[in-house]
Amino acid sequence: MLVTSDIQALATAVNGPVVLPDSPDFAAETLAFNAGTVHRPDVVLGAENARDVAAGVKWAAEHRLPVAVQSTGHGADSAVEGGLLINTSRLQELQIDAVERTARVGAGVKWRSVLEASVPLGLVGLHGSSTDVGVVGYTLGGGLPLLGRAHGFAADHVRSMEVVTADGALRRIDAGADAELFALMRGGKGNFGIVTELEFRLFPLGDFYGGGIMYPGADAASILTAFREWLPTLPEHASPSISLLRLPDMDFVPAPLRGQFVVHLRFALAGSREEGDRLLAPMRAVSSPLMDTAGPMNYLDVDQIHMDPADPLPFTAGGALLKDLDEGTAADLLELTGAGSDCPLLLVEIRPLGGALARAGDVPDAVAGRDAAFLVFLLGFNMPPLAEAVAVSIRGVLAALAPHSTGYTLVNFHGAPGDEADRARAWPPDVYERMRAAKSAYDPGNLLRFGHAITGVPAGT
Ligand SMILES: Cc1cc2nc3c(=O)[nH]c(=O)nc-3n(C[C@H](O)[C@H](O)[C@H](O)COP(=O)(O)OP(=O)(O)OC[C@H]3O[C@@H](n4cnc5c(N)ncnc54)[C@H](O)[C@@H]3O)c2cc1C
Repeated sequence: MLVTSDIQALATAVNGPVVLPDSPDFAAETLAFNAGTVHRPDVVLGAENARDVAAGVKWAAEHRLPVAVQSTGHGADSAVEGGLLINTSRLQELQIDAVERTARVGAGVKWRSVLEASVPLGLVGLHGSSTDVGVVGYTLGGGLPLLGRAHGFAADHVRSMEVVTADGALRRIDAGADAELFALMRGGKGNFGIVTELEFRLFPLGDFYGGGIMYPGADAASILTAFREWLPTLPEHASPSISLLRLPDMDFVPAPLRGQFVVHLRFALAGSREEGDRLLAPMRAVSSPLMDTAGPMNYLDVDQIHMDPADPLPFTAGGALLKDLDEGTAADLLELTGAGSDCPLLLVEIRPLGGALARAGDVPDAVAGRDAAFLVFLLGFNMPPLAEAVAVSIRGVLAALAPHSTGYTLVNFHGAPGDEADRARAWPPDVYERMRAAKSAYDPGNLLRFGHAITGVPAGT
């Protein structure tokens, strides 16, 4: 049990605030974007710099307390109970090197801030569907980008990172220094340490075309067939995705679509209006769109493509990597989640992979999914009276799709972590075994044991 002198020892070792559950600041310091997850750590450290993170980890190790980390709470798939929560949201350092085409960010930086600094210089990073997501948590989970088919996973393009390992040491690692740790941290999530700074590649921004088409949900079957036939015609610099949406009657939904069941095609293209219109033409001819926003786009409006919610929501999710999306897979999916079903899910999303996502980066990492053709991602509200039905539905859809799955998932789309076997689904078996060995080496006391954490190899084996 922690006593006052323990807390004082932490407070004198750090610059940032040390916040206890009875403090009026506790709710704000622990708040997650996934509002269904309520963290209850014994104590929170609002780290102001890398030294604070190192001091916090050392202090926790001395007191045998587990350590969790949160920046935005977009990935708060499970609640932190007890221990020390390190809030990294104050680590806002951001530098763009336009000549080297790299960005260096602190652990609290969101993708939106990167784009606001880089787009005026003609450069973009490999963010995902929402730029409200934190760069570090996203990238450590592999980071499936909007333009992933053109460039690969975000983790493939990390140059270096600064990380506090469970022994409290602050290390700068890259392909040459602590190479195995560097490989496994890119895709291995927060298993081996707390990243305080990340350096990664940026890409030149040329013409950009993007947006979405909303169709009536009643036409889902024919739209999905057209989508499957259309995909092989697309170049790698085009990234589409499609989802079935049961849109709630809420402010973040455009007024005419509130409360409707729709199909949402999303389209991002590193290309011109002429190329975008030409590529999209077959999908524009399918059904009668309720809304069509696709066209040349100011890159800073990129969140309009997926239209992810910008404000915290309580949600639960799950995902799987698919080998195929053949007629049978699509039919199974529609039977369970389509217009005629009683599916309670808000979102049933299919993201085609392939292209550069299928190729390992120059410096190998721990990302799964190279051999998968699609990611299916399921999400629903995690609040009464829907919560139980949503959880049951996610399990049911994933079970029905199992014959079409590679057996694996991407950790960023895994949803609530289950037992060890369930958590292992996020990595190829050979990578998972290397991760277990690295866990034993870098975190022998299993300090970092929350969320998608794995356990090391038992001593003596
Ligand atoms: C609206 C929305 C859209 C999304 N779109 C995409 C997408 O297109 N592609 C994609 O790949 N993912 C996507 N995600 C998933 C997202 O990438 C993960 O949830 C990711 O973990 C979020 O990182 P965060 O730092 O913002 O969240 P947090 O909840 O703050 O962190 C999540 C986890 O990341 C790890 N972590 C965070 N910071 C650190 C650190 N400094 N050191 C070590 N570990 C750390 C920890 O395990 C932590 O529990 C999306 C999520 C949401 C809610």
